[in-house]
Amino acid sequence: MKIVNTAFFVSSACQLRCFNCKVWQPNFKPKNSGKNWRFWLQDNLKQLPFFKPHVHILGGDPTAWNKLEECVTMLKQEGYEITVWTHGVWNLDEQKSWLNKVDRVVVMMPTFEAGSYKDWTGEDSFDTVLNNLDLLASLKMPHVLNMPVLPSNIPELPYLYEMAYYRNIPFWIHYSSKDAFSKDSLDYIQRFRWVKNVWIFKTQKTPSWMCQAVPYDSIDEWWQWALNEACDALNTVRTWVVR
Ligand code: SF4
Repeated sequence: MKIVNTAFFVSSACQLRCFNCKVWQPNFKPKNSGKNWRFWLQDNLKQLPFFKPHVHILGGDPTAWNKLEECVTMLKQEGYEITVWTHGVWNLDEQKSWLNKVDRVVVMMPTFEAGSYKDWTGEDSFDTVLNNLDLLASLKMPHVLNMPVLPSNIPELPYLYEMAYYRNIPFWIHYSSKDAFSKDSLDYIQRFRWVKNVWIFKTQKTPSWMCQAVPYDSIDEWWQWALNEACDALNTVRTWVVR
């Protein structure tokens, strides 16, 4: 995996209504990367040094952006690796045009239970996400379970880890130390550093015009990728030794 990563925000459109997010609220003015997104993208990527970074496409939800397929096609033609961060609430058949061009899909899962998922997202779509995770597995599309950790959903951490474990997919968690976590909670999150296939991203604060389920400002911090990579290698060795 590349440790040089860059985030590309495409649009603040999203179909969900997460309780901690502003992008769907009536008084919010949607943003996008502008009419000249191709030039914007090319200019930004040209400024990055020496070798091609892994490009992360973020929103809102990128699947609500009607240029997603065009964008990933362009990036792929230029030889970039691509990850799309999404809530995963979609009809898979309608998404295949971009899905088969990207390298990885990161799917938000803030809670492990249908009722609390509805409370969190405003939508009764928990089963749709689970079903799409099954379909991504059947297509052999690399995918990741993404848990935005807040003080309110910390108790769900082990259950969501189990969900990822039984699906045999990586589990990425991210949190902001600016949220009101107790020291015990922060220590508890950090204990997951020593669990194989779990990656932790520490963020400052995701801007209010973006999806709150992405670790926006840590995506281009190479040391966070390197640290996760190193811990995962160590955890893999420890798993072998214990066996
Ligand atoms: S947090 Fe993300 S998935 Fe939830 S409503 Fe906001 S943009 Fe959509």
